[in-house]
Amino acid sequence: MLNRLLVKGLGFVPTPVMRQLSSRYIAGEELADEMRALTELKGRGFTGIFDILGEGIRSREEASQTADDYIRGAEAIAAAGVDAYVSIKPTHLGLASDENLALDLYRRIATRCAELGLFMRVEMEDHPTTDATLRIFEALRTDFERVGIVLQSRLFRTLDDIDALAPGPLDVRLVKGIYIEPPEIAHTRAGDIRDAFLACAKKLWDRGANVRLATHDAPMADRLFESMSRRGMRSQDCELQVLLGVQEPLWQRWKLEGRPVRVYVPYGPDWKAYSLRRLTRNPQLMRAVIKNFLTPG
Ligand SMILES: Cc1cc2nc3c(=O)[nH]c(=O)nc-3n(C[C@H](O)[C@H](O)[C@H](O)COP(=O)(O)OP(=O)(O)OC[C@H]3O[C@@H](n4cnc5c(N)ncnc54)[C@H](O)[C@@H]3O)c2cc1C
Repeated sequence: MLNRLLVKGLGFVPTPVMRQLSSRYIAGEELADEMRALTELKGRGFTGIFDILGEGIRSREEASQTADDYIRGAEAIAAAGVDAYVSIKPTHLGLASDENLALDLYRRIATRCAELGLFMRVEMEDHPTTDATLRIFEALRTDFERVGIVLQSRLFRTLDDIDALAPGPLDVRLVKGIYIEPPEIAHTRAGDIRDAFLACAKKLWDRGANVRLATHDAPMADRLFESMSRRGMRSQDCELQVLLGVQEPLWQRWKLEGRPVRVYVPYGPDWKAYSLRRLTRNPQLMRAVIKNFLTPG
């Protein structure tokens, strides 16, 4: 109830205040802002993930424009010499209206990334898009070496999806999943989502995948680190991924422990609509954002 009220109230928050609220999480509106943030993170010993805000694109022209913007971003990353890669939502490339279009545009970006020696990741959105996203990833994997996927521990199906992925090198960002999904297909209790995260990580490690643990949940991460130690994996063997502006003291601690930490840095003019959409879909996030915003430093 409180969450819903918070989200409703958000619509009335003036844009400058929303911008201030979001500024901790978003590099800015322009490519130059993104490059500044990635360069600053590099100076502090963190690698980066390049993301342009946007999703749910239905027009062919806009999807194609998104692909051009990502290519421009990949070229800027290569020119700046920062260790970063592009990470793209399938519906930002038109998946919601045309799967083949999305695949073609991913191919276009992956081709340029390969020329520049960069990695590209296909992100995962809500459950109606899961099958198509996995099909796109499998198709890309046959042609490009440096592509990865995101898998969500929240979904019951994920353990089976791991089994179903074709053999061969595999790079996975493992997340809990940001979208609230129906209880028929997804875990709803925090403890179950955590347990599933561990089960997915173990299954991925068993099949030799490169697993990137994307989380700010310190107790869950400690359980994952214990599991890594039992397998003889060292701190530097597994990358942690975090969101810009979220739980920075945790990144510092992990870095001091010798764990590689990669920071997700979104930017773009669509920041307000994006923030509102995200918060409306997952109101619990609103509390986390407010709590984080009020935390000094
Ligand atoms: C690098 C990266 C990429 C991601 N990519 C995807 C993706 O492709 N698809 C997808 O479905 N999900 C993605 N996610 C989101 C992910 O699924 C979770 O929703 C998110 O990471 C929060 O879960 P958590 O594991 O941090 O644990 P939680 O228990 O949710 O959070 C742990 C603590 O971190 C803080 N926190 C977490 N998130 C935020 C936030 N946004 N703002 C402020 N404080 C916060 C809270 O204080 C909370 O107490 C990504 C996350 C990261 C870090």
